[in-house]
Amino acid sequence: MLAYIGLGSNLQDPEGQIRSALQSLYASPDIQLQQSSSLYRSHPMGAAEQPDYVNAVAKISTELYPMELLAILQEIERQHQRVRTGERWGPRTLDLDILLYGDLEMHTKALQIPHPGISEREFVLIPLQEIDENLIIPGKGGLLGLIEKLPQYQLTRLASPDVGPQS
Ligand code: AMP
Repeated sequence: MLAYIGLGSNLQDPEGQIRSALQSLYASPDIQLQQSSSLYRSHPMGAAEQPDYVNAVAKISTELYPMELLAILQEIERQHQRVRTGERWGPRTLDLDILLYGDLEMHTKALQIPHPGISEREFVLIPLQEIDENLIIPGKGGLLGLIEKLPQYQLTRLASPDVGPQS
């Protein structure tokens, strides 16, 4: 199954956190890292009093079920010492989200796929476009159409990922 993972960090060397998380995905025996996007800098949503984020997207293949994949992502978050403050959109050392899992649509309390914010978030849509611009987001439509609907965006492309099969 092909899946796309969103990565974000805005604390404790965010670029290093994202590179290290990509390395963890690459090293995970149940996950094959197919491709990672460049790293991007984005302004925080919600509470303004926090540092900018670094974001990226990874394309993986896996035979894990979605809940098993989520458990592995949460373990990687834990290894990166993410402290859950409970604050929505609060600062974080590492946030890993399942953006897409094949063409699956699921809406349970524990897991919503496609990830609910996907269609409005430039820091998800632009890195996805870098990997596969012909993507269809189940229930939302074509990626390029969603990008056209974005208000003017303010992402800065930082660097190539330097991790995984392309390095
Ligand atoms: P957050 O604090 O934003 O990282 O939210 C974490 C919680 O969101 C987790 O406990 C998950 O159960 C839930 N969640 C729902 N949908 C997703 C998704 N597509 N990817 C990751 N976590 C999700």
